[in-house]
Amino acid sequence: MLTKLLSRETCADCRLCCIFDRYDVWETPVISKEMRERILQLLPDAEFISKGQESYIFRVRELDENDLFTCPLLDPAKGCRLGTEKPFDCQIWPFRIMELGGRRAITIAPICEAMAAQPVGTLLKFLKEELAETIFAYAAAHPDVVQPYDDLYPVLMWEPRTF
Ligand code: SF4
Repeated sequence: MLTKLLSRETCADCRLCCIFDRYDVWETPVISKEMRERILQLLPDAEFISKGQESYIFRVRELDENDLFTCPLLDPAKGCRLGTEKPFDCQIWPFRIMELGGRRAITIAPICEAMAAQPVGTLLKFLKEELAETIFAYAAAHPDVVQPYDDLYPVLMWEPRTF
């Protein structure tokens, strides 16, 4: 979804978004019931916990200060085992969908250096023209992907009010 902003090569060389520390482990992708079944075919030992009404996230043991959790779907040689069928969270990362004061907003994870190097105007234009509508529609249909607002994540766009 982001290939106009981030090349596949840039993402393949980085993979930061597939590795988590204790502070961003909440960023592990939200997984639908159907995707969970698919993951279990690939990784029969994968463990999940419920998130919200009908979604899951990977079970992660408690992480100490220097511990990292690598997404079980990351193949060190080939990248994501799900190919182009990644969870929505991964398709739009480093954009995030968050909720503050009863309103949804698209934010951006500051840790993605390739996106941080882009002018804000470029990001906003891309959201307006290509992706914001898709993100807000997905969030409305799948509220489990909406995270509470984290003030380290700059807000790029608020969901338009419908009144
Ligand atoms: S599902 Fe794939 S893209 Fe998403 S965090 Fe795991 S390995 Fe990375």
